[in-house]
Amino acid sequence: MTQFELLDKDKTTGRYTFLLKNSTPAMANAIRRACRELVPTMAVDTVEFAKNSGALYDEMVAHRIGLIPLSTDLKSYNEQHKCKCEGEGCQSCTLKLTLKEKGPGTVMSDALKSADPKVIPVHGNMPITKLLKGQELQLVATARLGTGKEHAKFSPGLVWYTYKASIKVNNNHPQFEEYKDKFPPRAFKGGKLDASLIEKHNLFEACDGINKDIAEVTYDEKNFIFHVEPWGQLSPKDILRTAIDKIGDQLSEVQEHLA
Ligand SMILES: [Zn+2]
Repeated sequence: MTQFELLDKDKTTGRYTFLLKNSTPAMANAIRRACRELVPTMAVDTVEFAKNSGALYDEMVAHRIGLIPLSTDLKSYNEQHKCKCEGEGCQSCTLKLTLKEKGPGTVMSDALKSADPKVIPVHGNMPITKLLKGQELQLVATARLGTGKEHAKFSPGLVWYTYKASIKVNNNHPQFEEYKDKFPPRAFKGGKLDASLIEKHNLFEACDGINKDIAEVTYDEKNFIFHVEPWGQLSPKDILRTAIDKIGDQLSEVQEHLA
């Protein structure tokens, strides 16, 4: 049975590393693609300008606002095309954010004031534009749920995987001295190749193919090291959970059509 096991949480990047056990490359890739393309997140999609006397023109400011990650509450919003308003836009599928700033100064993402305290810019220190003395920016932005398939701004983060690898080292090989300089310095402990350091620093590819009798790397096609590095709209757990639900939904649709 396919299983996920948490291996590591990186506090600085927010990246989670999982072991995907007893799976296949097709399944690993389906989950990766579903994470990037099918998991909905909130992002600003339209902007109405009341005033913009700054140097950046409206389209450019709107584009920059669209790329600001917004914390996403999947339970409170519907995807617009599935909403009871039939895509018109209502409180269940859209959210208004307002911005009212005067120069001089740099307008940061935290100047966007949201009507919903659960959906706000993840990082408040992203610059939108600069205003000189006397210049003004006033706008109303509308955010909605969307998917990475439509536009990369809705993508919840980076997701990638590698085959789980293992390495056998032989430090007593007669040609060890001759080959040792070809291995990365971080693979050594006390002048000897160290399998646990190679695993810790993920140096399998750097050690592979130098000399099979000194270091032999094997890749496991059933187990994968799966990384999820979110932009901040959703937690890695929510990204994975939603992605797997979406794959399930797509399969049920196929089943309905078959019936
Ligand atoms: Zn609606």
